[in-house]
Amino acid sequence: MKILLIYPRWPKLKNQPAFNLPPLGPVTFAATLPHDVEISFYDENVEAVNLEEESDLVAISCMLTCQIPRGCELADWFRKHGRTVIFGGIAAMLHAEEVASRADSVFLGEAEGRMEAVLDDFKNGRLKKTYNFLRDFPDTALIGAARRGILKHPLYNYRGVRMVDLVHASRGCRFNCFPCCTPYLGGRKFRPRPLDKVAEEIAGIDNNRLFFVDNSLAQDDQWEKDLFKTLAPLKKKWISHPIKNDDEILKLAAEAGCWYVYQAVFDTSDYIRERIKKYKSYGIGVEGTIILGTDYQDQDSIRRLIDFLQEIELDLAEFTVLTPFPHTPIREKLEREGRILHNDWIRYTAGEVVFRPALMSPDKLQEMYEYAWTEFYRSTCKEMKMAKLFIEVIKKEKADGSYRGANCKTQNRCR
Ligand code: SF4
Repeated sequence: MKILLIYPRWPKLKNQPAFNLPPLGPVTFAATLPHDVEISFYDENVEAVNLEEESDLVAISCMLTCQIPRGCELADWFRKHGRTVIFGGIAAMLHAEEVASRADSVFLGEAEGRMEAVLDDFKNGRLKKTYNFLRDFPDTALIGAARRGILKHPLYNYRGVRMVDLVHASRGCRFNCFPCCTPYLGGRKFRPRPLDKVAEEIAGIDNNRLFFVDNSLAQDDQWEKDLFKTLAPLKKKWISHPIKNDDEILKLAAEAGCWYVYQAVFDTSDYIRERIKKYKSYGIGVEGTIILGTDYQDQDSIRRLIDFLQEIELDLAEFTVLTPFPHTPIREKLEREGRILHNDWIRYTAGEVVFRPALMSPDKLQEMYEYAWTEFYRSTCKEMKMAKLFIEVIKKEKADGSYRGANCKTQNRCR
């Protein structure tokens, strides 16, 4: 059996880096398929899909809301040409009704241990319209090593350098932040994977640089310590979302190869100042993730926030416009208050204002978003700041003997 697996393109934002990272969703899904299933994978962000390529089934995997319109467009084309289409992925869960109306089937939830039955249904001509496993989470021990062999790695290189590979050590999140759909999708319970399985998967990745896309590593102190102790001997260098603000844990993270973290910066408090300082004292870089457009922000407070980011010497900053994605607490609030401007999902990129802010007009917020990017990178451009971080990882690799050279040499291992 052959599946054509497609990751639809989305609009590239002008402030986004020029490179693309190899996606994790499709390769994690691919690992849930029986081994004899042949997969032909296209990430439309890096190459065009061969629409004429034959397959038994077309699977469309969407992570982002702004992928949904293109995913539906592809589904329409394939179905018009007599092909069977199934949708899956995070954004398919957020837009379940919409994608169900444009596909033969939609899979909602986590696929481990479930795809064999779905494919059996398909082979026997009884594919269901919906497979709903939302909030019916499989045992995390069933999560196998992502099938990265389906990626065409050279397409993700930037200036000849291989970008990080994505990996995850846990699912779920015990927090419930206002702009986030993770609690809806992955549940409010932290669900770690068995560490031996995580270590085995990571040891098998032919890339020294990784990105843990776990929602937040700061969910369970003992697990975090155990994870870092497990990672240390592998000598990988990695990026992650926040790590617990604790000396012992940060020391272990640094020893385990932590390169830099994504840390939300939501105000100009001493708490944030000290948090950033602490990471840096352990040699861990910080990319701030900053949401603009919250109800307490006006133009002056955004200007002050950018000054603050310069002052605390963030290594990088990524600005997004608050966006009311489906199934988030903020969407519920803005819907209640009649402040959502439209549901044109392709414009839900987090780079465009799609709601009415409380203390400024939508246009003004858009202007402040552009201001934030320009002002933060005014004295040192983004490429230069990224290069500085890159030099740091090379130093770490040289220090422990894991440096493999600056250029990509071994990555021609497509399929
Ligand atoms: S923003 Fe991060 S920490 Fe907050 S709920 Fe979402 S995944 Fe959890």
